[in-house]
Amino acid sequence: MSASDILIEVKNLKKYFPIQKGVFKKVVGHVKAVDGVSFSIRQGETLGLVGESGCGKTTVGRMIMGAYRPTGGEIWFQTPDGGPRLNLAEMTPAQMRPIRPHIQMIFQDPFASLNPRMTVREILAEPLIVNKVAKGAALEGRVRELIELVGLKVQYLTRYPHAFSGGQRQRICVARAMALYPRLLVADEPTSALDVSVQAQIVNLALEIQNKMGLAYLFISHDLGLVRHFSQKIVLMYVGKVVEYAPAANLFGKPRHPYTEALMSNVPSVRSDFVSHKIILKGETADPINPPPGCAFHPRCVYAQDVCSREEPLLREIGPDHVVACHFSEALDLNGCDALGCAI
Ligand code: SF4
Repeated sequence: MSASDILIEVKNLKKYFPIQKGVFKKVVGHVKAVDGVSFSIRQGETLGLVGESGCGKTTVGRMIMGAYRPTGGEIWFQTPDGGPRLNLAEMTPAQMRPIRPHIQMIFQDPFASLNPRMTVREILAEPLIVNKVAKGAALEGRVRELIELVGLKVQYLTRYPHAFSGGQRQRICVARAMALYPRLLVADEPTSALDVSVQAQIVNLALEIQNKMGLAYLFISHDLGLVRHFSQKIVLMYVGKVVEYAPAANLFGKPRHPYTEALMSNVPSVRSDFVSHKIILKGETADPINPPPGCAFHPRCVYAQDVCSREEPLLREIGPDHVVACHFSEALDLNGCDALGCAI
């Protein structure tokens, strides 16, 4: 693959939400929800964006979708058929409209994202009608194609969302997201509201669709164990910043940030003979309004030294396509999946 295969490139992305107080709503500070995040996704590739809740990962997804305007940074999107690269971060909602079909999103709660008063046929037809993509027999044909794409029966088209299980509803959401042949799907915790038994089905469905349609995924999750199955690259975020970004094989083989090692140690073991080496993180995720000085992770880090509370570690390259923000990433001998028992 070459640089020209890059579908989306996020550079130094920031989103600061103002904190207002008093009758006159004076701005007294900012929540730095996303603070300098960079990554890229190639066509047909999956990038897992991982971190605890409140780390800013959903805000990144919403900025890519145009739901939030970034405070700073760039989001370069490659338009189809060798068209220009566009900086979505600078575009108005009206300018974004023709780009929207190419970037779709599925959400955590499939029930909340489906209109309970619309049948499945109406739900799937809506984006095709609004974007004037199909009508008449072609519209009906595409709707049938979509429901079959996600493994549901054509007879279900007349039913309403309440008649389905959580997993089936998420399939309907996936079908709707595929209606306009997107090139990038932003999946925000798409399985976390589902039973464990159904989660694997939805992940397998996403993989099947990716193989058929060659689209790219930004898969947002708090679960490092889930994204490891299908992500080519992983970004770990902590309090609005990237702490480690690497190809999945490198990251799981040899993590270089203590936060990555801790999350990895909590991925359930696949070995029945294995003695758990779980690292229990102390305390809560840092407050993004008032993060700790130096390394924001230092109050919870088992390897922290004095310098960690004084100096913020910069994100730096420590290997091919592998960047990390830790003062001691070269000195620490952190455990990878093999040692922790979560072998891929
Ligand atoms: Fe831990 Fe220090 Fe590295 Fe932060 S910089 S992750 S506190 S060792």
